[in-house]
Amino acid sequence: MARGQDDLQHRGIGMTSQRTRERLIQRLYEEGLSNASVLEVIRRTPRHLFVDEAFAHRAYEDTALPIGHNQTISQPYMVGRMTELLLAAGPLDKVLEIGTGSGYQTAVLAQVVERVFSVERIQALQERAKERLQALNLRNVVFRWGDGWEGWPALASYNGIIVTAAAAEVPQALLDQLAPGGRLVIPVGAGDVQQLMLIVREENGFSRHVLDAVRFVPLLNGPVA
Ligand code: SAH
Repeated sequence: MARGQDDLQHRGIGMTSQRTRERLIQRLYEEGLSNASVLEVIRRTPRHLFVDEAFAHRAYEDTALPIGHNQTISQPYMVGRMTELLLAAGPLDKVLEIGTGSGYQTAVLAQVVERVFSVERIQALQERAKERLQALNLRNVVFRWGDGWEGWPALASYNGIIVTAAAAEVPQALLDQLAPGGRLVIPVGAGDVQQLMLIVREENGFSRHVLDAVRFVPLLNGPVA
């Protein structure tokens, strides 16, 4: 079958890509992801555009990959898992993301929630993420270069907050910026292995659920140019 040379979805990764992508989705399903719209969004989001060209041939493996600046693009399973946890109580309007990185998790979120507000401390990563989302025509995302420990107070509150770097402790600012009923999904811990947590803002305080053991890069301090 003929295919446009510069079709964004397939650029640079050859004819096996569609099959490779289907295989990834099958694997995520077998590993327990069950939200059909999340799986569908992962299926159609071109992850190879979010990694350096040297790693594009591995973009549809279920693994984290380097994106420069000592950071990694999250593993597809974890992107799906955290997105499912956010959405588990119903559709979300405003979602705050801490740790834009490559913008891959941002792109997935942008296709399943109304609006995404994404904070990244490394300016160079943020710029590239912004370009990628523009190229994919995802327009419901606003970016901020700043320190995720502070959240994004000016635009609070949020129905969902997702943190894609491990915090030694849950940032108080993020709890403060959670709307009533809002959900925070965050890896917590100071070691190599952390605990994924779901924290929900209830009428009187917060409920906390400790979920999977995970491995994320650390949530660091302060913005860097
Ligand atoms: N979801 C991203 C994951 C990137 S890794 C992706 O799939 O590509 C985690 C990201 O969090 C890195 O880009 C890192 O720079 C960023 N980060 C770490 N500490 C931060 C902080 N305090 N504020 C904002 N971003 C932070």
